[in-house]
This record gives sequence, structure tokens and C-alpha cells, in this order.
Amino acid sequence: MDVDDPAPRGGGGGGEPPRIRRLEESVVNRIAAGEVIQRPSSAVKELVENSIDAGASTVSVTVKDGGLKLIQVSDDGHGIRFEDLPILCERHTTSKLSAYEDLQTITSMGFRGEALASMTYVGHVTVTTITEGQLHGYRVSYRDGVMENDPKPCAAVKGTQVMVENLFYNMVARRKTLQNSNDDYPKIVDFISRFAVHHINVNFSCRKHGSNRADVHSASTSSRIDAIRNVYGASVVRDLMEIEVSDENAVDEIFRMDGFISNANYVAKKTTMILFINDRLVDCTSLKRAIEFVYSAILPQASKPFIYMSINLPPEHVDVNIHPTKKEVSLLNQERIIEMIKDAIEEKLMNCNTTRIFQTQAVNTSALTQASTQKEKGTEVNTPTGAKSQKIPSQMVRTDPRDPSGRLHTYWHGQSSNLEKKSDLVSVRNVVRSRRNPKDAGDLSSRHELLTEIDTNLHSGLLDIVKNCTYVGVADEVFALIQHNTRLYLVNVVNVSKELMYQQALCRFGNFNAIQLSEPAPLRELMMMALKDDESISDENDKEKLEIAEVNTEILKENAEMINEYFSIHIDQSGNLTRLPVVLDQYTPDMDRLPEFTLTLGNDVTWDVERDCFRTAAAAIGNFYALHPPILPNPSGNGIQLYKKNKDCMASGERDNDSTNTDEDEIDQELLAEAEAAWAQREWTIQHVLFPSMRLFLKPPKSMATDGTFVQVASLEKLYKIFERC
Ligand code: ADP
Ligand code: MG
Repeated sequence: MDVDDPAPRGGGGGGEPPRIRRLEESVVNRIAAGEVIQRPSSAVKELVENSIDAGASTVSVTVKDGGLKLIQVSDDGHGIRFEDLPILCERHTTSKLSAYEDLQTITSMGFRGEALASMTYVGHVTVTTITEGQLHGYRVSYRDGVMENDPKPCAAVKGTQVMVENLFYNMVARRKTLQNSNDDYPKIVDFISRFAVHHINVNFSCRKHGSNRADVHSASTSSRIDAIRNVYGASVVRDLMEIEVSDENAVDEIFRMDGFISNANYVAKKTTMILFINDRLVDCTSLKRAIEFVYSAILPQASKPFIYMSINLPPEHVDVNIHPTKKEVSLLNQERIIEMIKDAIEEKLMNCNTTRIFQTQAVNTSALTQASTQKEKGTEVNTPTGAKSQKIPSQMVRTDPRDPSGRLHTYWHGQSSNLEKKSDLVSVRNVVRSRRNPKDAGDLSSRHELLTEIDTNLHSGLLDIVKNCTYVGVADEVFALIQHNTRLYLVNVVNVSKELMYQQALCRFGNFNAIQLSEPAPLRELMMMALKDDESISDENDKEKLEIAEVNTEILKENAEMINEYFSIHIDQSGNLTRLPVVLDQYTPDMDRLPEFTLTLGNDVTWDVERDCFRTAAAAIGNFYALHPPILPNPSGNGIQLYKKNKDCMASGERDNDSTNTDEDEIDQELLAEAEAAWAQREWTIQHVLFPSMRLFLKPPKSMATDGTFVQVASLEKLYKIFERC
């Protein structure tokens, strides 16, 4: 049976439940293999990692037909013992791990003993290997985890060669999708390029079968920058800066990052992020996003960055066992680590921005020179070492959110004046070779237009406030109080969170993590709930409301595929909502507002014009995810009156005691506790999720300066003057 074929359906509709059967082991293995080896490039990654684990100093990769016909990886590592060959490709056979606890300290890339086995379930694997001191090597082929024949002696050069042929020959659907989709070869080249940048003492090569030109060819070197130059070209290296961060406070250093990041001159449409954590090539979406936002905040409209970063942490702080292809790892204190890296990059970029001005002058086009001279004048006042701090009257005013001890700090302003220069530079700078920037499927131009709109509407003064403010506390149900330099502002939490969520919905577009609802929620019922309180539609037996719910459910079902792909809102065939997007990490929207959201989505989204559709859908998401006040009224202060129990209930049994009851006894304690928890939770979220994320991501639009979203309430200089007089 082909595991890609749908299983025969037993029972059906309202009949008897289908029988549960145990799957044959070969089917189980093939399903598991399909997870580990998702595509040809994942097989290449596993094989190359095995070669590196085997201590190889040369690794050569040859690929035919995007890896579907042939993948061959040869290395000069320690080879495989003859006596291990029979179990080499069985599932869970490995030389790298023996007890579960070893995972805590593992430094090899493999540990599950699944990769080779998986390949034999979905392809034809042949291994040729020789160990040191032997006169000849052995060759043996595998199918479904076992040897097809006894190992045959053969001539061999040092190390191991693994050949995988006809990948996914027995998974028709997978093979078809891969054949139809783009060739995997660019992905393979990309992997090898990344390995070559990190493992600088290994020679890598990667070529198409039959071609004598290698697409990656790296020679071992002692210098990282040489390795990057070798693989990505001199034009990239010219615009890179070295960066280093470590955990300076800790007694024994536990975190260390070093790498290279692009400066303001670098130009590319897509981020290149080469991330190694404890020498493992991994993805970390939250880190990548944080970095991208630092770039877009400091260098608005600049290009996407190039990042090579190697992070080292104690092995016990990294959980390597959370992803089937080991593509992701989980870190202890991830937020803190991201914050440190983000701050370091921010600092580096701000400094490099000043440097760039002088570089630009040297280019000597008159327009550029003029622009930079203006900029220079501008920076005189605001350079980090400038004299601005002297203008602030009292040393007691705390102005730096990151420095509670009261150091005065001046901030960098005026990013907007760089915009014109940037576009001039675009034409003279080289772009990374295009094959390393395959077109992103989610890069629809309407979405880009909306993102550009956000950039054009950005208010740089407010951006500075948002980035560098200190959170003081919530002021009332809607406003929070913040301090920026010596000024206090009230910020409308609902407005800013709505905008933040809208922007995030567009930024994460097509790339969301998902919140799985514990049970599928029927859209019709949700919409009926939302319509219930709508007095404008008066209808005795709810006929009209039912119709509205019905029509909107159908609309959403029709557009289900699209909203799932772009916004990760998943609606099943029967009109149930099953998944929502993660718009901000660690944040789930208030589910009391879900009914209203489904109705808005059906009713208010423009489905036929792409750009309007994205805008209105993102706005609906923004409104749902915004930090509205909880539905239960705020119980603090006089609000507590609202939680008094109904007098009529009190009247019946407890009348005798009534006069002796204190106020507290009349309160519905359960409801009150619920309300208090909701408000406390909101306050916590505003401080610990909303404001930190705003610092990172929000691009406040100009309208917010005048529509009451930000209101200046006091200037501390003036307050201090008043105090001095007292
Ligand atoms: P894992 O890498 O998780 O141990 P694999 O299925 O990738 O599992 O490999 C199984 C074992 O085969 C490894 O533990 C290693 O001992 C051996 N092996 C695989 N590839 C090579 C290689 N290129 N050189 C030497 N030994 C290898
Ligand atoms: Mg392995």
C-alpha cells in the first residue's frame, strides 16, 4: 500500500464506528521516514552532518535531478566498521548516544539513528566505506532498513560514500509534488554554502551530476571572513561588520555569540540568516524576526540583512530534540538571549550609520554629498556623545529604560534623512547572487504595498518614543503611562495594540505559527452569538440572523484556502474554525471576542480585490488581537458595586442577617475573582508583552501623533522646577 494514498474509509456517516487496526511495521516506518526525510535537501543535510560527525575534512556532494534521481555524499571521515554494516540502516541504531541523559551533553549533530534508516524506506541506499588500516573497503545496498546482500569487498579511498537513488520512489504523491515544485538543488546549494561558512576547516563541494563545475567550492581556511567571501562573494563581505556578545554579568560565561552582520550599504531583497547554535545549523524564527525589525527600524527602507551568527550555550541549555529534522532547537532563556543580540545589533547599526555618512561622501556624487552634509549637521546635536544631556536640568531624571541607575543618555534621531541616499546607493551596490534568493512564495506585491505604506506613514518622533520609553504603569482602562527622556505620555493601549497586531499580521503573512483550538468551533454558532445582541436586526424567530450567519459562513468556507495560507486561520469543510494565527509570540487574543471576529471576517473583509482583502483581513485580525479592556467591568474602585449580588436573591433566605452583612458579603466573589484575574492578566500583558513587542516591532503611523493615541501629560523638567520652589 502506498502511504500517500488515503486510507479506505470504514463506517462512514452516522453508521458504525470504523475498526481500528494496527498498521504494518513497514507502513509505520515509511510514515516516520517521510517525516525525517521531507525532501531531497533534508537527505543531503543529514548525510553531510554524518560526514562532519565522522570527522571529515573533505565532503563532496553530487546531485542529479534535484536529488530525486541521485544524491551522493563522499567524505574522508573515520568510516564504518565492517561488523556494524548489518545494523547500520536499522531504525534507532547510532554510535552517538547510548543513554537518554547523553542528550544533555551531546555535541554530535546526529543522535537518533534515524536518518540512514529513513532513507532506506523511501529510496535505494548504497554505502561504500573503509576504515583506517584496512586494505579494502566494503560496498552494500539497503532496502527498508536491512542489507539487500552481504557487503562486497571493493577498492575504496579513505572514508565513506553514501548514495541515495530514486528518492520517494514509493511515495507517489510526494514525488509528484517535488517534481512539480521547483527543483531542490538551490536548497541543497544553500545548505552546503551555510555549512561551508561555519565549518571553516572542512572543504566542501557541491555539483550537479555530470557537471565539472562545482556550485559551491570551499577550501578550508582559518578565517571566517575568507570563508564567507569564498561562498557568498566579495561584494557581500565588503558590507559586513563583525559582532560579538557575551553574557558579561555571569560569573562563568554561559552565552556567547559571534558573527558577521551586514551594514547599511548592503542590499538584498531577502534576509540571509545563517544561524548555528552549538554548531548545529538551525532556524530560529523569533530571532530572525527580531533582527529584521531592528534593521527596518534603524535603517528604514533599507535592504534585508545578511547575518551569520554562531551562538554557544552550555549543551544542557539547548533542547535539540524538539523537531523531527532537528531544524529547530529550544533554548533556555530564549527571550533574554534574543534581547541581548538585538541590543548588540542595534548599537552596531547605529554606530555604522554614522560611519556610512563619511563613506558616502567619498563616493562623491553631488546629491549624496549634499544629503550627507545635512545629515552631519543634524547629527551634531544628537550624536551619542553629543552635548544634549547637558540641557537636561536635573541629573535625577531617569531617562534610559535599560539603565535604572539614572545615567543620562541621548538617543539617535533623524533616520528619515537617510531615505533618499539609500535609493541612490541601490544602483551601485551588488545584490547577492540571485539563485541564493529564490522567490518567496508569500511575496505578493499587494502585501508589499501595504508594508511600504506602513513605512511611508511612519512618524519618526513617535518611533523614537516607542523604542526608548520606560513603561510606568496603567493609568486607566484604556491608557498606560510611559516616560520618554524627561516627558510623560499617556498611550492609548487599544489603539497601539490594534496597529501593532495589524502590522504584525502583514509582516508574518503566510508564515504564522498556529494556535490550535481545543475543539473545532462552528462558525454559524459563533456568528449567531455575535448577532444575538444586535438589536438593529429584530426578528422574532431569528430568521434573518440565521441567514446572515449562514451567508457569512459560506463566504468564509469559500475563501478558506486563502485565509489559511496567508493568515493561518483554518476553517474546515464543515465550517468549523480550528486554528488561529500567533500574531505575537506568547499572546493569545481574548476568546470572548471570537464571535465578533468571525462575523467581521465574513462581513467586513473585501474578498475580491487582493490588496483590500489583505488590508481588511489584517485589520480584522488587528481588532480581534488588540488589548481591549476585558468584557467584565473593572472591579477596582467604585467598579466593585457592579459585582453586588442581585438584591432579589438576597431577599429570600438571608433577610434576617441582611442588616449585619458587610458590603463584602453581598459581592459575587466568584465573578469578582474572575474579573480581577482578567484585569491583572491584562496589566501583566501590557507591561511584559505589549510594550516589549512595541519596542521591537511597532512603526507608529503619523496619525497617532494627533488622534489622541499619544498625549504628553507632563515634562519632568517643569515638575522639578516646581519642586525646587517648594
Ligand atoms: P545518527 O547520525 O543519528 O547516529 P544516522 O542514521 O545518520 O544516525 O547514522 C547512523 C550511524 O551510522 C551513525 O551513528 C554513525 O555511526 C554511522 N555513520 C553514518 N554516516 C557515516 C559516515 N559518513 N561516516 C562514518 N559513520 C557514519
Ligand atoms: Mg545522522
